Amino acid sequence: MPIQIEKYQQLIKELGNKITLVAVSKTRSPEDILALYKLGQRDFGENYTQEMVSKAEQLPRDIRWHFIGHLQTNKIKFILPFVHLVQGVDSLKLLKEINRQGNKINRITDVLLQVHIAQEETKFGLNEDELDEIINTELKESRELNNIRITGMMGMASLTGDKNQIRSEFAYLKTLFDKYSKPQSINYKPHTLSMGMSNDFNIAIGEGSTMVRIGSLIFGERS
Ligand SMILES: *Cc1c(COP(=O)(O)O)cnc(C)c1O
Repeated sequence: MPIQIEKYQQLIKELGNKITLVAVSKTRSPEDILALYKLGQRDFGENYTQEMVSKAEQLPRDIRWHFIGHLQTNKIKFILPFVHLVQGVDSLKLLKEINRQGNKINRITDVLLQVHIAQEETKFGLNEDELDEIINTELKESRELNNIRITGMMGMASLTGDKNQIRSEFAYLKTLFDKYSKPQSINYKPHTLSMGMSNDFNIAIGEGSTMVRIGSLIFGERS
């Protein structure tokens, strides 16, 4: 399916300059990504490490690659040298491992903490206690987390047609984002609230999203 140029341009207009659009390019060809790049798009999201590495090698160097999938610790090293933002940090273990490997290559990695807000058990993410532990205990007490910088939070709402349900899940995430809005330490600088996909980005924006991750609306349905 070709790129939906009109949809893309309309979206850009709607979002203005306060909300960042991450074009979710998983499963899409490098040619499609390049076509969107030529329209000015720079932020792209991928959810498989190998696919992201392979595309990054072929495509312009000024693309900002967002890793939006579930990152396995043994795959961190492949994306760390170039990733712009790791959106789905869903455990303290993963955070520490990104830090450890970043230390080896002398790089500070920006990450978002992924919070579990959906009803489904299967979606990854931290619960409120785990979030609190990372922000209020680990970041403050650990002298070692110098190679990561937490720049905000990310969440995915339930896959449901119930708009009120989706709205209340995004509202809950916004509440947490606000609760921890004060920088606690030099490696905690929250300014990004990543929520909203093709089907629910309007609701997410209504609830305070600053970054949306949109795939099928721009690239057409994934086959
Ligand atoms: C696939 C994906 C998206 C984009 O989904 P669309 O429905 O195609 O917009 C957004 N966020 C994450 C984490 C994804 O895996």
